Parts: sequence; C-alpha cells; structure tokens
Amino acid sequence: MNTTTFEALGLSEPLLRALAEENYTQPTPIQTRAIPALLAGRDLLGIAQTGTGKTAAFGLPLLHHLGQNRTPPAPKGARALILAPTRELAVQIDQSLKTYGRHLGLRHAVILGGVNQTRQVNAMRNGVDILVATPGRLLDLVSQKHIRLDGVRYLIVDEADRMMDMGFIRDVRRIVGLLPKGRHSMLFSATMPDDVVKLMHDMMGEHERIEVSPPTKTADRIDQHVIHIDQRNKRALLGHLLRDEALKRVIVFTRTKHVANRVSEDLEKQGIASDAIHGNKSQNARQRALEGFKSGNLRVLVATDIAARGVDVDGVTHVINFELPNEPESYVHRIGRTARAGTEGVAISFCDPAEKTHLRGIERLVRRTLPVMAHDLPPEDLTQNTGENRRPNPEHVPGERNYRQPKRRWRPRSGRRAA
Ligand code: AMP
Repeated sequence: MNTTTFEALGLSEPLLRALAEENYTQPTPIQTRAIPALLAGRDLLGIAQTGTGKTAAFGLPLLHHLGQNRTPPAPKGARALILAPTRELAVQIDQSLKTYGRHLGLRHAVILGGVNQTRQVNAMRNGVDILVATPGRLLDLVSQKHIRLDGVRYLIVDEADRMMDMGFIRDVRRIVGLLPKGRHSMLFSATMPDDVVKLMHDMMGEHERIEVSPPTKTADRIDQHVIHIDQRNKRALLGHLLRDEALKRVIVFTRTKHVANRVSEDLEKQGIASDAIHGNKSQNARQRALEGFKSGNLRVLVATDIAARGVDVDGVTHVINFELPNEPESYVHRIGRTARAGTEGVAISFCDPAEKTHLRGIERLVRRTLPVMAHDLPPEDLTQNTGENRRPNPEHVPGERNYRQPKRRWRPRSGRRAA
C-alpha cells in the first residue's frame, strides 16, 4: 500500500499548502515514483493514462524547480514548455498548474489554435515561466517571431500517442529540434507505438521509466452494461433513459462530429438540454459548454472522443456510449470519465448489430463480458421495422415451409466449348 506523503517527497512549502487546500492527502502511485526522480533532475518516460494523476506528477516538480530558481524569462520566451494534443487538454493542464502553483506567483500562457492569436501574442510579449501549447499554433507563432524557444529549460510532451493519432508528431519533433540541448525532458504516453519511441529517443537519453497499472484496472469500479438496440432507435432510447433524474451528470459519446450534433439537437427537441463538443466547434463554444457542464448548469454533454480528451469533470454519474468506439482503448478512456477520484460510476453502451465486432474487441481488452441490459423503451417509441431489419422472405430461407429452390443459372462449363 502507498503510504508516502507529499512532505516526504520533498516538495516546497507553497506547493504543500496548495495541495492541502485541494485536499490531496496522498500522492498517487505515479506521483510517488515520478516526483523524487524529477526533483533530482532526471528525464522521465511515463507510460500512463489520464486519471492516474500524471499532471501533478510532472507539474509539481516543475513548479518546485521554477519556484526555487527565479530567473526571469526573456521577452517572448518561456522557461518551461508543455505540449498537449488538444485544446481542452492544454487548458486543463494550465488550470491544474495554476491551482498547484497558486502561491508561487509564476507567469503562465496558453497557446492554442482555433482562436484569434492577438491575445496570445500579447501574453507572450514579456515572456512567461510556463507555456502550455498545442503544436501547430506554437510553430506558427514561432515562425512569425512572436515566440522564441531558446530559453526553454523544461520540456513536457503529454499524451504523445494522441499527438501521433492526430498527425502532430512531426510538428512535435520540429519543436524539439528548436529547443536548447541541456534541458530537462519528460514524455507521457498511454501506449508506446514506434513513432512515440522515436520521439522519445529524439527528446532524451538516459531516463527513468515509470509505467502505472493498465487502464483496465480503473474500469473495475464502473458498473458497465450494454444494451442491444438498432441504430435508428438509439435516439429515442437516449431520451428515454435521460428522463430518469438519477442520471445527474452525463457524457454521451459519439464517433463523429456529425452524430454528436444530431444527438444534441434531437435531445433539445425532446426537451432535454444538452450541448455538443467536438473539433468543428470554436474554442469559445467548447469552453462555454465545458464550463456549463462543470458548474452543473448543463446536465448532458455530447462529445466525440478527441474533444473529450482532457475533460476532467468530477461527479460524472453516467457515461453513455451512443456509438461504440472502433478502438477498444477509447472505450476505457470514455468510461474513465466517470468514477473519478474513487467515486462510483455507470457506463451504458448502445450496440447496434453492426457494432458487435467493436463490442467483442472491448470485451477482450477489459477481460470481461459486459452484462446485457434490456431496455424498457415503449413499443410505440420504436421505429417500425423497415429496410435492413425486415424479416427475410420465407421463400428465400432454406427449411421454411414456402422455401423455393433458386433456379439454376446456366453457366458454360469451362473447357467444353474449346473441345
Ligand atoms: P490526471 O491524471 O492528471 O488527469 O488527474 C486525474 C484527477 O485526479 C484530477 O482530477 C486531479 O485533480 C486528481 N488528482 C491528482 N492527484 C491527486 C491526488 N494525489 N489526490 C487526489 N486527487 C488527485
């Protein structure tokens, strides 16, 4: 059992005070192992998912170093650079670091795409201690000479495998190439595909490697069910489930932006307030939806997988998979949005017959069969069977009373004609 305290790990007093205010009583396993290594100045590879406490694992030692060594940043420069794949995750990291570092008085900036650059350029004018950025916009502002990277002493790349999935890994490598050599580097990734291994070799030499327990463990506290239902009846079922007040704070996952919009609009028509977040929404719209969801004003958030990265909201009671993800790992990520910080949660997955192969992949990964839950959607709410689910014509089913043997089609037998 983990009985270490934050004091014993050697963090400075202003950080310990902030942690006490946040009611963090015990470091998580990744924090127990990463903090001493990072305080000692070692580079780090962390194989860990969100939900393990990895932000504080790199954030606390980083804040400790920056707080102890108060060299002012150069104009347009940053002393520490944190790269994140999505805008939501970048904002989330910045908020966490501001919380943990609230007694240190450090300067922060966030650089991300999808919003006007003027405020970001202004924020960088006098330089900052901590810069959290998504790779594309950062490179853009560097090439416009609004940001310089030659003063970066600390580099953190978060969710490197997601960077790869989203096509950012080349941008990340270009950024790494622009940084000074004698820096302190950390890389976090849930999985280690080849491109991430390559990036790691670009970034660091000898390093500490910490791997925390696989995500399937976090799934153990979540009450998981699957409901078999045709795609065309999913919206009615969702509305029906959401009429139950016990579903207090709910994230509904879809595979595409398009379906996220449709689901949210449809809920609106059924009188259930919701908002959708996905990559086509402006940063401000996404942020507004998230704030509403966090504050409790918005009960239902509809999200795609990528937009949901970095959504770290306490008290999510239910995750509903409106569509199953095609990557089983995403299922674990999704359901991990509930049951955070030791609470319980419920995950309900809608499965159309065409999604059964996805379901099997998920069940293999989580090493269990998801219990099937019957839905109690009233028959009048079910769309009548049409199209692909129409009962087959008995004349075409062998063994049925009216079965008719198909007529043989005449086909030339090979070779006969030539003979
Ligand atoms: P992360 O893996 O960094 O996304 O963190 C997951 C969640 O755990 C966040 O809500 C953190 O605020 C919370 N958290 C991180 N470390 C601790 C800790 N030692 N004690 C309690 N909560 C924590």
